[in-house]
Amino acid sequence: LVELTHVEKHFGDLHVLKDINLTVNKGEVLVIVGPSGSGKSTMCRTINRLETIDSGDIRIDGKALPQEGRELANLRAEVGMVFQSFNLFANKTILENVTLAPIKVRHMDKKEAERLAMDLLARVGVDSQANKMPSQLSGGQQQRVAIARALAMRPKVMLFDEPTSALDPEMVNEVLDVMVELAHEGMTMLCVTHEMGFARKAADRIVFMADGQILEQNTPDEFFEHPKTERAKDFLSKIL
Ligand code: ATP
Ligand code: MG
Repeated sequence: LVELTHVEKHFGDLHVLKDINLTVNKGEVLVIVGPSGSGKSTMCRTINRLETIDSGDIRIDGKALPQEGRELANLRAEVGMVFQSFNLFANKTILENVTLAPIKVRHMDKKEAERLAMDLLARVGVDSQANKMPSQLSGGQQQRVAIARALAMRPKVMLFDEPTSALDPEMVNEVLDVMVELAHEGMTMLCVTHEMGFARKAADRIVFMADGQILEQNTPDEFFEHPKTERAKDFLSKIL
């Protein structure tokens, strides 16, 4: 479903992505781990073209990424993204946050968009907050709204970039639980996270990045029990 081949990216002199080759199959859940600065966020951001690449090829469902305009907007609609910071529209209600894109991009009827939004908000357990403003919600609730907002576009794949790392500890699990549920429902997911419990529970494959390269890809059991590279052993010894 998502295919990166020979992807290269520089920021000035800094070589951030080095010959990245990665395939994500439909329904697969990948967890991307690695030290800070290894290029995890940059790689995720290239997939919906929030970052351009220098060379190589990225395909979603067999199609190359569009450069601009309406086609790019459509692509972004198919790739849901949830960041560390919640990025909700501060001056819109929770319900409006979720209905905005389906109405604007998908030209969905307002009533239908609201029905869909309420379903999704119920699924992530915040439907009772629908008429509040984002600032009235806890961080964990806001992040669950951000997930519902992304799901409202019926994405083919969901990208999560450290969705729980800005949350107070007691709110981490309420967001991870929603992600585990999505994973079990068959959503295709790429998740950058330091939550190794989640990785073990939900990941089909762990992708280990260091210095802009993918050094290992393996099942969680294999990766955690038998890391192959020194970099991965060193990384695991620091986080486990
Ligand atoms: P972390 O775990 O800290 O989030 P990461 O693996 O997500 O790290 P990236 O954010 O992808 O790493 O960054 C990779 C490298 O690229 C880092 O050295 C970072 O400083 C650099 N970098 C990221 N974005 C930019 C940018 N817009 N301009 C210049 N350099 C950047
Ligand atoms: Mg990052």
